[in-house]
Amino acid sequence: MNSKTTRFAPSPTGRLHVGNIRTALHNWMLARKSGGSFILRIDDTDAARSKEEYVEAIRADLAWLGIEADREERQSERLDAYEAAFQRLREAGRIYPAYETQQELELKRKVQLGRGLPPIYDRGALNLTEEQRAAKEAEGIAPHWRFKLDHDEKIAWEDGVRGHQKFDPAQLSDPVIRRADGSWLYMLPSTVDDVDMGVTQVLRGEDHVSNTAVQIQMFTAMGAAPPAFAHEALLVGKEGKLSKRLGSLGCDAFRERGIEPEAIIALLARLGTSLPVEPIADREDLLETFDLSTFGRAPAKFDDAELERVNTAIVHAMPYDAVKHRLPAGMDEAGWHAVQPNISTIGEVGEWWRLVTGPIEQPEFSDEDRAYLAQAAEALAWGDDPWGALTTALKDSTGRKGKALFLPLRQALTGMNQGPDMGELLPLIGESEALARLERARG
Ligand code: GLU
Repeated sequence: MNSKTTRFAPSPTGRLHVGNIRTALHNWMLARKSGGSFILRIDDTDAARSKEEYVEAIRADLAWLGIEADREERQSERLDAYEAAFQRLREAGRIYPAYETQQELELKRKVQLGRGLPPIYDRGALNLTEEQRAAKEAEGIAPHWRFKLDHDEKIAWEDGVRGHQKFDPAQLSDPVIRRADGSWLYMLPSTVDDVDMGVTQVLRGEDHVSNTAVQIQMFTAMGAAPPAFAHEALLVGKEGKLSKRLGSLGCDAFRERGIEPEAIIALLARLGTSLPVEPIADREDLLETFDLSTFGRAPAKFDDAELERVNTAIVHAMPYDAVKHRLPAGMDEAGWHAVQPNISTIGEVGEWWRLVTGPIEQPEFSDEDRAYLAQAAEALAWGDDPWGALTTALKDSTGRKGKALFLPLRQALTGMNQGPDMGELLPLIGESEALARLERARG
């Protein structure tokens, strides 16, 4: 496979949400898989809405997810390049000034819709005479700028997800690319960047399909070959509807819920593809099967319960070395191994580890159980497998079995009715502490 240059191009007007994360991940995977390069491009031409704190949050979120960019670019530092492209395209007759106000445009739309016509810009500004234009300028109306689509140049591309796509340019409005105050809209800067940065593959949401149609003509007008395009289906809630909640669900919320980045990655790498979602923590394994041809056109359904299942499975398979720096002080590999099957997030480790370190709170025992626990205190012997030895001895001496044999011991030793395997826990509690707990329980 040829090496690909991809980019993820968020606007720093808010935090990343799960839909953005998915797009970032897929672009990262496309680049990694091909041995290419992945660019983080900050689309911050909208000075009023862009905030530095969001730029920082985007970087931090991507770092937490392990989606590292090979390069970072910022649109606000590239205004000269946009200006140059603008002048070139204007000289080539592909950009023209327009003077309609927002209200005039609205009115035109309404009239068209009222007549059952598609609301395509009528190119009124192109038909102005020099005098009419001069009159507008004399009135102090500064123009905004539109890119002139070539109606004779049919637009078509092979989309990496959607297959063959074609658009009739006559059915599209000439897009506004620059506001009257000189500021840029998304369309032209993005195209200039994709050319200058050598982007070979654009992968983004299907809400950009009609932008792609327009941008393909921009690439051509700039004398550049368009990159390959792929548009992935949108992410929806599990009910199948676009969900407002998903639009605000981001890394902070995941972190608070104890979701591991690897669980998010494993889910989002496969969601909406024909491959099964599996708790794969190794990115190399995910990369191996990653392929745009497995992507479906139906909306990808995001289900919290599925994310939690993947997370739990990933936590259950996590090696000690990968978590040791996040465990409570004093908790060693045996401790991790004992509690690992009982947790669904790393945050739950502490609750179980407290059973080892204490203090614990024992329930009220019946007289009968107190007598039994007294026997247990006497039978406690330390060796390789103190729990096995203790329960075998008590089974023989008391005739107890099942719950009657095990539950009072668990309650006395941990204060709980259930929890990690006692065979693993008891050696961690240690001989003297275990004896003290049994003595306390016998009363
Ligand atoms: N800033 C644009 C967005 O967030 C980027 C779209 C693109 O990938 O070209 O929608």
